[in-house]
Amino acid sequence: MAEQRRERERAQERERERERQGVQDVQGAQEAQNAQGGEGDAPDAPNAEEVAGAWEALVATARRMVSDGLVVGTSGNVSVRVGDIVLVTPSGVPYDRLTPDDVTGVDLTGRQVLGALVPTSELPMHLALHRTTDARAVVHTHAVHATAVSTLVTELPPVHYMTGVLGGPVRVAPYATYGTEELARNMVRALEGRTGCLLQNHGTITYGATLDQAYDRTAQLEWMCRLWLTASSVPGLTPTLLTPEQLAQAEERLRKYGQPGR
Ligand code: 13P
Ligand code: ZN
Repeated sequence: MAEQRRERERAQERERERERQGVQDVQGAQEAQNAQGGEGDAPDAPNAEEVAGAWEALVATARRMVSDGLVVGTSGNVSVRVGDIVLVTPSGVPYDRLTPDDVTGVDLTGRQVLGALVPTSELPMHLALHRTTDARAVVHTHAVHATAVSTLVTELPPVHYMTGVLGGPVRVAPYATYGTEELARNMVRALEGRTGCLLQNHGTITYGATLDQAYDRTAQLEWMCRLWLTASSVPGLTPTLLTPEQLAQAEERLRKYGQPGR
């Protein structure tokens, strides 16, 4: 019995070593390709420094979801694109335990090219956005007010002009089991012309040009859901909603909001 267990352990260790070797091969190939000026099969292969920097930012974003109360435990996930690689949070790993050695990356078809940890179960949603939009970063949460709203309506009523930040009234993607292609398809439809949507009885998903932008859109979405729930829970009163014209004007202005060129 003990001998069988030792043999099983040795086999598992050999398997882990093969996986580590595979990852090193990918990294080595990328570095060699970059050294040659990035020519070859993967013209947009990132260098190790870019990957490490993006991973650090991704982990910081994932930890922020927990500290800001947008998720509990290992719920939610984050991705960021570096060249042709999509870095993703691994599935079911507490974000405060992630180290620089845990870099997890897939190509746009979902094939794992970096790391040995299993990528997030929501790869279909993340990859659908990285493949079909100009997304460079995607944030998925189970934020409580947003998830509550997703169980009540098919579209978040436009109570505030910040609706414009997400491209218009935020739709709710019909329910499908987490991690499925069906959920990704429902999400893609709900996101038409938008940078964020709710996932029925599940949570939020937003994307942006950077991790900060994707994260901020989630935070604004959660805030608007909280606002609508608060206003619509006053007995006997119904919140006023913004008209399409009012929303269009705000959206136009939001394009120039803030500091130019920053
Ligand atoms: P992962 O831990 O696999 O990313 O799953 C969390 C989640 O939110 C699934 O919808
Ligand atoms: Zn989820």
